[in-house]
Amino acid sequence: MAVLTVHTGVGNIEFIHGVTERFLRYVTIDTQSDPASPTCPSTVKQKTLGALLAQELRDLGLADAHLDEHGYVYATIPATTDKTVPVICFCAHMDTSPDCSGEGVKPQIVKNYQGGDIVLKADPAQIIRAAEHPALAQQIGHDIITADGTTLLGADNKAGIAEIMDAAAFLVAHPEIRHGTLKILFTPDEEIGRGVDKVDLEKLGADFAYTIDGETAGNIEDETFSADSAVVTITGVSAHPGFAKGRIEHAIKIATAIVERLPKDTCSPETTEGRDGFLHPIGIAGSLEQATLSFIVRDFTEAGLQEKEALLQGIVDEVMRGYPRSTATVEIKPQYRNMKQVLDRHPELVENAREAIRRAGLTPVTTSIRGGTDGSRLSFMGLPCPNIFAGEHAFHSRLEWVSRQDMEAAVRTIVHLATIFDERA
Ligand SMILES: [Zn+2]
Repeated sequence: MAVLTVHTGVGNIEFIHGVTERFLRYVTIDTQSDPASPTCPSTVKQKTLGALLAQELRDLGLADAHLDEHGYVYATIPATTDKTVPVICFCAHMDTSPDCSGEGVKPQIVKNYQGGDIVLKADPAQIIRAAEHPALAQQIGHDIITADGTTLLGADNKAGIAEIMDAAAFLVAHPEIRHGTLKILFTPDEEIGRGVDKVDLEKLGADFAYTIDGETAGNIEDETFSADSAVVTITGVSAHPGFAKGRIEHAIKIATAIVERLPKDTCSPETTEGRDGFLHPIGIAGSLEQATLSFIVRDFTEAGLQEKEALLQGIVDEVMRGYPRSTATVEIKPQYRNMKQVLDRHPELVENAREAIRRAGLTPVTTSIRGGTDGSRLSFMGLPCPNIFAGEHAFHSRLEWVSRQDMEAAVRTIVHLATIFDERA
């Protein structure tokens, strides 16, 4: 029997978890988002889950819980303390990735996992191999939830949703646990990069937030990439190919010469990990007279971004010296910035989360994300927002999995975190 023990001024409280039951219900609702749709939410079906969550929150007694017209769910857990405590928001996203079907998810549970590969029932070609998923080694004795091999699971981010819902149920049932005002925010369309486009931060009224959308149990992420885009536009010289000797300067050939000069052993997603960034071509289009190359530039520091952009400019200049009658421009546009720039001004956010993770029985590990998050955008919109683990693994794929024990640890972390802000106020 899973119990949550919270050490409070009024003694230890035990609580039987409902997080797995909630999770298994939420994943059966298809909430796949669609980057081609101009609407918000991008798919109406996300509102099916949103309406259910708002109703469940009202059933808990959170009177203001509602789904708005853009597909966002807002709710407030009233304070149980007399102290002045910052308003903390717990945030998760309702949509699943467009990369893999989320229709007809049939979750399976491997109880008391004893190691080895997990073959998914409906498609035996889909195997979660222990060798390819080293995080499985930490899950011995745990109950592992997977899809059946035909869809993704949706632990990203319905694990986070179930964890926030379960923590809310626990806190509402135990008003003797002291905490400040807590806010709940469930967003649509995170997977297509539009998760905070229509969020109403004034209505939300939170001082700080945590997304519950990370991978390994115990992890807290306070850094994202900083990101720019770069577009190289090449204008060559065209002529009739029958009379072109000494005349044509071919934009396609200039573009490929630039790509060919990119570093081979560094500076690309396929050759870097950890804290190394990259300069990554994502698109090429062209004809004789004009060609464009699109890049994304990623690094954890501004200096690192500028270095990679200077590298690109240098390659372009070098190639263009061979084509004196052609021109090339490099246009850089900022996309998002490392949220650590904001979070470092509020060190208590990560410290309190680390303490909550410790009290939940785990070892806290502060890490960085090789990408952006809704939290990085929220941080720069004025709501500082690190990311806490939800236990999701192999997301955006049919091999996605999460364990019951990791989800329960996340629920404990959320509850402890709420109490720590009160203790330290
Ligand atoms: Zn996610």
